Amino acid sequence: MGLMTREQYIESLDDGRQVWVSGRKVDRVATDAALAPMVEAVAQIYDMQTRPEFADLLTFERPDGIRGSRFYKIPETPEDLMLRRKMTSAILGEVSPTMDRFGDETVTPLFVMCDRADICDSFDERYARNAARWLDRLQRENLFMTSGNTDPKGDRSLQPYQQHDPDLYLRVVEEREDGIVISGAKFETGAPYAHVALVKPTVGNWIEENADYAVAAIVPLNAPGVRMHCRMPLTANGAGNANTYDHPLSGRFDELDTLMVFDHVFVPWDDVLFSRQPKMAAMMRAEFSRWAAQGYLVRCLSKAELLVGAALLVAEQSGTVKIPPVRSKIAQLMMHKQAIEAFVIASEASCQPSPGGYTMPEQAIQNAGRVFCSQSYHHMVQILREVVGGQPVMLPDEAMLTGAETRGDIEKFFAGAGFDARTRIRAMHLARELTGSSYAGRTQAYQLFAETPVFAQENALFASYDREGALEKARLWAGLAEEPTAAAEPALAAGR
Ligand SMILES: Cc1cc2nc3c(=O)[nH]c(=O)nc-3n(C[C@H](O)[C@H](O)[C@H](O)COP(=O)(O)OP(=O)(O)OC[C@H]3O[C@@H](n4cnc5c(N)ncnc54)[C@H](O)[C@@H]3O)c2cc1C
Repeated sequence: MGLMTREQYIESLDDGRQVWVSGRKVDRVATDAALAPMVEAVAQIYDMQTRPEFADLLTFERPDGIRGSRFYKIPETPEDLMLRRKMTSAILGEVSPTMDRFGDETVTPLFVMCDRADICDSFDERYARNAARWLDRLQRENLFMTSGNTDPKGDRSLQPYQQHDPDLYLRVVEEREDGIVISGAKFETGAPYAHVALVKPTVGNWIEENADYAVAAIVPLNAPGVRMHCRMPLTANGAGNANTYDHPLSGRFDELDTLMVFDHVFVPWDDVLFSRQPKMAAMMRAEFSRWAAQGYLVRCLSKAELLVGAALLVAEQSGTVKIPPVRSKIAQLMMHKQAIEAFVIASEASCQPSPGGYTMPEQAIQNAGRVFCSQSYHHMVQILREVVGGQPVMLPDEAMLTGAETRGDIEKFFAGAGFDARTRIRAMHLARELTGSSYAGRTQAYQLFAETPVFAQENALFASYDREGALEKARLWAGLAEEPTAAAEPALAAGR
């Protein structure tokens, strides 16, 4: 089988998967009102790989002469890293500026396993071999793989093994000759219209007692025992029924976050990445973002560009763009966007070899970029809100613009600085989707949490920062460089 086409992708979703949206059983994912627009968005990406202007970005020629998907190619050179960034940017430019889940970053834990094959082998030689085999298959078939890290977690003050219900974290119920049986649940964005899920341990304290929970595997989304419960759509009757004049983003790109339940799901050993290995869970958690964060930062850049553009558009149509304090606010937004771009470019330009000899973005810059992006998105939204004023939350919908009895008033009172009401309301709806809609709220939560919570990102930054270099400089200028560092007397150290 070659690279999957748009038609094959759409057909492939008719595979017996069990999906509910707001408690309603989904008959056919590809045509369901809540899911169809995202299926279409992903289908467009499959299309892009056959379009001449994008084919070389989205695919590459493998050593065996077969064309493979670049999503699943570990960057071997700085050029690979650059092409990866351009591939993600091209998709965000062509399909959606705000779409998060399409597979290029969710695969990257497999890169880490191939990169760390020696360490994986010290636990079990099947693990890295399985990761490499899956990468090979994903390259050839271009399946869409999502990623589930986050468990329901129950009482956060307790360890996984201490929970009153053992399924609150995904766990290994049984290891058998032919594979493992897993039970529990994970949260996954985009799972209902993906092919497989890469499930892996969440942020945590990977002590021996949690061994049953230290499991990572690739699971087909139609596997017996998998049930997917999607949250309620962001628009009343699902994106497919939404008016895209009123809902330019939520009517197209409602990426349904899903509780994915695993009820005694059997996983053959070939698809197990590790089982009952807390040390591997700890190691992989520390390194999982090595390549994933590049995709996250490129997405943040795309969202920041849209925020700047929306500010300019509304300010132009309202005439406020001529007012210096409003320009200052827009300049603040531009500063954030430029800073994100600098993180993207700098981490790529200063790329470094990975432990296994591949090429990865410079980790401290990239980790700083992650913290910056996760923390600054809501601040950027606040600036946009100040620029666009209160009207975006008081907007008429298209029905009011076209209604025989309302049209006259709406056209008269919503016209702007040389722009008719229809044009201006359209721009304001975009601003509303970014600042004052349920889409805006979900996006802000996504930015804050979906790339792991900020405290975990800060830990990664601390770990990857050149602390020794910083200490050396401080010691030098404190006049401590020449002097041996004396340990404090025990009595003094104890504060006596
Ligand atoms: C829109 C959206 C999409 C998502 N998509 C995915 C996905 O596709 N795949 C996936 O795996 N996950 C996904 N997530 C889940 C995301 O990874 C989690 O929200 C995140 O890990 C935080 O977990 P939680 O929401 O359970 O918060 P909680 O664990 O309940 O934490 C609540 C707060 O307490 C803080 N906190 C908790 N423990 C500690 C601690 N030990 N030290 C300091 N502070 C702590 C947290 O930082 C947070 O601020 C998504 C989340 C959102 C909002």
